[in-house]
Parts: sequence; C-alpha cells; structure tokens
Amino acid sequence: MTDVLDETTRTTVLGSSWQGAARTGVAPFAFEENTRPWNWLELDRTAAAQLWRILGEFVSFFNARYGERPELRIPPCWAEHGSLVEEITTLWWARWQAFESAHASVGGAQYWHTYTVPGFFERMARWLGLDQLERCRQGRHEARSDGIGASSVQQCDTAAHLIAADLELRAERGGRPAAMTHDPGAQRLPIPFLERD
Ligand SMILES: [Zn+2]
Repeated sequence: MTDVLDETTRTTVLGSSWQGAARTGVAPFAFEENTRPWNWLELDRTAAAQLWRILGEFVSFFNARYGERPELRIPPCWAEHGSLVEEITTLWWARWQAFESAHASVGGAQYWHTYTVPGFFERMARWLGLDQLERCRQGRHEARSDGIGASSVQQCDTAAHLIAADLELRAERGGRPAAMTHDPGAQRLPIPFLERD
C-alpha cells in the first residue's frame, strides 16, 4: 500500500505535533506507577515537566486539527491560565483514554467529540469570560486583577517563566503530598489504564 501523503503534505497538513508524545499513546507510561498524571497537585518535577511538554504538543495538534475558526482555538497564553491548564489536562487524558488506551473505542471517541470538546469550549469561556477569551486569542492577554501570573514581559517568555517556576516548586521525585500516601488503595479510581500489568 502506497503512502498517500508525501512528506511536505504530511508536515503541512498534519503538523509536526501529530507525531509528538501527545499523539503516540506511549506518553502515559512515562509517568511513575501510582501517579495520577492528570492531578497537578501530586506531580513531582519530572512528571510535571513531562505533562507540560505533552500539553504543549497537544494544544499545537488541537489547534491545527480542529481550529478552522479562530473561536475554536485554544489561546496561545493557555499556560498562563491555571483553569485552562487544568481543563486541557483532562481534555487530553480523556482523549487518550477514548482514542488510544487499551480501552479505547469508537463510542468513547464519539463521546469525546460530542460532549467533551463542546463542554471544554463552554467552560473555557466561563473561566475567562468571553471578552477576555477573545482578547487572549488575539494575543492580548491581560494579567489577572489579583496579580497572580502578572508579568510585563512578552507572552511566550511569561509562559516559559511560569512553567520553569512551577517546576522549581516541585519536589525532584516522588512529590506526592503526605496526606495522599497513607493509603493509596483508598484513593485509587477505577481508571482502566492505571492497571498496567
Ligand atoms: Zn490569556
């Protein structure tokens, strides 16, 4: 069977992110066992760095694949909005579970398109407000009024700075808060892809 896409077309149409960790399905296994990698509160520095990278690749893929209209794109300053970081995290993991995990199914994939993605867009507008979201999409991000995330440097520098600061605050390895370690079994959710045997 011949490859229907030449290399230029592949790069132009699909974008390099199409082949990144966000796409390959191996990304979940880069996290330590017993880590719930959608829960930022329990990620150590290594896991957080991995997740930042995956989300960056996923946002590139998502905007290239689905962002036919500007209002259907994730704003470039997403990393500066904690709410969007959290939402994109579960959006990505929900996609992984529906499309690429051992329990992936066309029904799950359709559910993601029909319910998960529209819900994500609704909540993104609710978190930021429609006006702010529109300005962010146009590259006119504004610092929060409470000063969190405030910076006068350029947006991409701000995101990089925020990610570096986030990683700096995390333990090198095994950064899970003590309260979550006493009985891991009690915390375990019935998520199929945590069963790795
Ligand atoms: Zn913004």
